[in-house]
Amino acid sequence: MTPPSPVIAAGSTLASLQLRPPLDAVDNRILICHALGLSRVALITQSERALTGDEAQRLSALLARRLAGEPIAYIVGQREFFGLPFEVSGAVLIPRPDTELLVELALERLAPRARLLDMGTGSGAIAVALAHGRPDAAVTALDVSEAALAVARRNAAANGASVSFLRSDWFAALDDAVFDVIVSNPPYIASGDRHLSEGDLRFEPAGALTDHADGLSALRRIVAGAPRHLAAQGWLLLEHGYDQAEAVRALLAAAGYAEVQSWRDLAGIERASGGRRP
Ligand code: GLN
Repeated sequence: MTPPSPVIAAGSTLASLQLRPPLDAVDNRILICHALGLSRVALITQSERALTGDEAQRLSALLARRLAGEPIAYIVGQREFFGLPFEVSGAVLIPRPDTELLVELALERLAPRARLLDMGTGSGAIAVALAHGRPDAAVTALDVSEAALAVARRNAAANGASVSFLRSDWFAALDDAVFDVIVSNPPYIASGDRHLSEGDLRFEPAGALTDHADGLSALRRIVAGAPRHLAAQGWLLLEHGYDQAEAVRALLAAAGYAEVQSWRDLAGIERASGGRRP
């Protein structure tokens, strides 16, 4: 059901709009800035400014989308990740703060001029953050979705990061390329998981969230295929669900990886696991 369109009256001041329910002040501020093309600072210094009719209409339309549940990142078309701005659209997953853990783990393991591969890059967040932080690294990023790759390419260009993009269904188009570090935040939510029908996830691409199976099938494929594309001692680093660390460690150990371990995110949840090619 579509909620009734909120009507914002022309003449309302910017100060009064920020405190207007049902959204909280943070969401209100983001939408006002976006509708009016204002910076956060301008919102403060122009707090007594009154909306024109056009502005009131634009803001009403944005509010209606937010009230229908659309993620704020899709409405404004942007989300920050690892301190960099990323364009996002319905073609890509919205970068999560949890995923910064994977970037940090990879940064700690990148030798000078190392070769890195990001599998299922989506918006390019991981690959671009790494290439931006380590311009000496040779970063390759692949995705099966051409629409996602278009977004990722723009994010690399906008952030001045040099990344080679490749359309590939996991390892299919890689030939015999070899990397020192392989990272991935693959779809790992099991089909039928209730989270898929709640909140922001309802608007995100299903193929980026779920493997349409037990949640581990993409992780299994990557664990199985990575050794052929890892240099000796190379690291495979994987993000996974809050309850999958033990299962992913078991997959890595069974495939013969060394130094198998998991790492916790800022919330204290085991969010990434990895190991080295034996
Ligand atoms: N971390 C995301 C979530 O739980 C899922 C991302 C993924 O499937 N790779 O909302």
